[in-house]
Amino acid sequence: MHPPAKRSLHIARSVTEALEARARLGDNAEFFAGGTWIMRADRREEFEDRHYISIGGIEALAGILISKDDVVIGASTSHAELAAALTEVAGFRALQVAAEKSANPAIRNLATVGGNICTGGFAAADLVPALLCLSASLEFSGADGLERVPLETFLKTRSAVLPGRILTRMIVPRRPRRSAHARLPLKKAGDYPVAIVSASFALGENGAVEDAVIAVGSVEHSARRWTALETAIRGLRPTSADVVALAKETAGEFQGRDGVEAPGWYRVKVLPELARRAFEDLAERKV
Ligand SMILES: Cc1cc2nc3c(=O)[nH]c(=O)nc-3n(C[C@H](O)[C@H](O)[C@H](O)COP(=O)(O)OP(=O)(O)OC[C@H]3O[C@@H](n4cnc5c(N)ncnc54)[C@H](O)[C@@H]3O)c2cc1C
Repeated sequence: MHPPAKRSLHIARSVTEALEARARLGDNAEFFAGGTWIMRADRREEFEDRHYISIGGIEALAGILISKDDVVIGASTSHAELAAALTEVAGFRALQVAAEKSANPAIRNLATVGGNICTGGFAAADLVPALLCLSASLEFSGADGLERVPLETFLKTRSAVLPGRILTRMIVPRRPRRSAHARLPLKKAGDYPVAIVSASFALGENGAVEDAVIAVGSVEHSARRWTALETAIRGLRPTSADVVALAKETAGEFQGRDGVEAPGWYRVKVLPELARRAFEDLAERKV
């Protein structure tokens, strides 16, 4: 049995205090938001000594602002708060469903949006593909000031952006689009979805797809866009059968990751069915 790690907690009352603590305590220090990922460190066999800097009580990271142009989400917003705030917001169904269906009620009350995005090595995050399909940007605060980065860029450059910076808020533009989120949880997979498809479509007056942003989570090590399917669907008025056929043709661009809960090939195989479910949900709704 591994000896218990030494862990200490530091409470930060402001973003500045949290950044100062991180600079002082060094690379063994980690921000602690809802703690739902951190509390499982032992299960992941991460036994290093850690300093945790609690950021959950920082007012500047709280709250959701909904305006006609965008939705600005504080990083310490819980999944439950986000799901409740978005029920009536047109075009945001992908994010609302992602927040409402992830994990279980107890975890949703604690787990934060910032933690979902910033957790390293967490491929199955529900909010990430949902925010990706809505073209979200992220705002980080660091010693060098504030920096705004599109989520899509962050996912490719995470290790250059994160150490020593705090994610403060997500900015999601409001556009005339419909969106949906389809996830496949398996009993065998325990807590996390095996594969996720989040999609947002802008439809023309004739019902044709003018633009599509389709994101896939949990299949590879990081969520990313399904660009071949986005291109194939543009300009069409697809039926469910068309979506499945195009998804089967283009799913080969993904290299599924093997995991205890599902082999990589299976994660790729279920994508056309998830694309169908997302498309049908999106097509059924007026917003
Ligand atoms: C039983 C269970 C089931 C789950 N099921 C799902 C699921 O179905 N779908 C899903 O998406 N997730 C699921 N999760 C994971 C959970 O949603 C994530 O653990 C959660 O979103 C992380 O948020 P947190 O606030 O708890 O992060 P924490 O555990 O506090 O932190 C996680 C990491 O993120 C960093 N971090 C947190 N906030 C910030 C910030 N603002 N700036 C910079 N770094 C930050 C921390 O330093 C740490 O490295 C599940 C978790 C559990 C325990």
